[in-house]
Amino acid sequence: MPITNDTAARIAEWLRSARSAVVFTGAGMSTESGIPDFRSPGGVWAKYRPVYFQDFLASDAARCEYWRQKCEAHAQFGTAQPNVGHKLLAEWESAGQLRAVITQNIDGLHQAAGSQRVLELHGTALAIECLSCARRCEPEPMMAAFRETGSAPQCEACGGWLKSATVSFGQALPEDVLAEAWELARQSDLFLVLGSSLVVEPAASLPRVARQHGARLVIINRDPTEQDATADAVMRAPLGEALAAIDQFARPMSQSPQRA
Ligand SMILES: [Zn+2]
Repeated sequence: MPITNDTAARIAEWLRSARSAVVFTGAGMSTESGIPDFRSPGGVWAKYRPVYFQDFLASDAARCEYWRQKCEAHAQFGTAQPNVGHKLLAEWESAGQLRAVITQNIDGLHQAAGSQRVLELHGTALAIECLSCARRCEPEPMMAAFRETGSAPQCEACGGWLKSATVSFGQALPEDVLAEAWELARQSDLFLVLGSSLVVEPAASLPRVARQHGARLVIINRDPTEQDATADAVMRAPLGEALAAIDQFARPMSQSPQRA
């Protein structure tokens, strides 16, 4: 499905007239920043078995495996930069066209691009958190300590286990973030899904809820999704390209020549 200006112009018109446009982003949002979709070939889980939260709590071997995987992922993707898609979403928000970004991504690239209201359903890889006292610290020193000692780091304050501030398999999503995401979906009149196949929860349900409450649904993803048939517009294109095409039509004429 090539990018058609018709579709891009239609979405831009909806974006301009929306009172409460909300974006939902999945792994596909960050592939253009060099972070592979963890489910795709070459992705993290094609290579490793993820460490489940219960195993992390129960076993020293599992905690070490967890930290080994985190160190490798951090070395590979720790320097990733926001791409043009991240930047456009931040611009739309500051122009008052976008209310919030709900994301499954843990890479912090929306915030790095300048987005203000970002709901991280799966937490963030940019911090380490103590499972006992919730104290947070920077990842690098902990990873250096793990590489040096080979044992899983513990909290300096309370001795609790330290873990990336992300949601592991088998671990509950943060309730407050989830509640806010549902509320945003219910209130939105335009819900844009970017780079998610809408397979897992709550990714599958948020767009459905938005639609049931009267929102227009736009899906931009590399692959088809189960909700394409119910969407008001579908684009199957690289996200940067698709968002740039929409952006072209979304801003006032006087501003368009500034776009490089
Ligand atoms: Zn602690």
